[in-house]
Amino acid sequence: MRLPVDLAGVLEALGNTMTITDRVVLDDVDLGAEHYSFAGPADYTVTFTNGGAGQIVATGTVSVTARATCVRCLQDFDLPVSAAIDAYYVLPGREAEIPDEQEYDVIHENRVDLYPALEQSVAVEFPFAPVHDAACKGICPVCGGDRNVTPCTCEVAAPSSPFAALKDMLPLDDDKLGDS
Ligand SMILES: [Zn+2]
Ligand SMILES: [Zn+2]
Repeated sequence: MRLPVDLAGVLEALGNTMTITDRVVLDDVDLGAEHYSFAGPADYTVTFTNGGAGQIVATGTVSVTARATCVRCLQDFDLPVSAAIDAYYVLPGREAEIPDEQEYDVIHENRVDLYPALEQSVAVEFPFAPVHDAACKGICPVCGGDRNVTPCTCEVAAPSSPFAALKDMLPLDDDKLGDS
């Protein structure tokens, strides 16, 4: 996916600006083991500013609703994301004037591709381990049921169970087993 932006007008003079408000459909994003798709297009507003020395600064915001998969219960859910855009572009041959730590893309024939900046801005907002709800109970490791939907009574081996402790303290009399 590409989102070419013509910066000819902005490049004409120091201080020139151009603001673009538009929407774009983002490609799916894979982040580690997580896969994110999008429920709709991303809305963005970006202002390009000529900062001199052949440098263009792009700042703005992007918002989109992502579709993520809960790591606990595996159900898909909507994840609204709003992110800041912060990108830096420079004319060929002027790279030396950019501060060392500044990431940038080079302007080709007065054009830049805004797409990578949009995608990166959104992707950094994605959680490492998405959960559909902070209180998600997840899937039962014993019966495999979704404990949010059908609470089960499976006993998950837990040393903290008061009954387990009781059993250890009061050995059962074998003769009385099954009498009731
Ligand atoms: Zn969940
Ligand atoms: Zn269960």
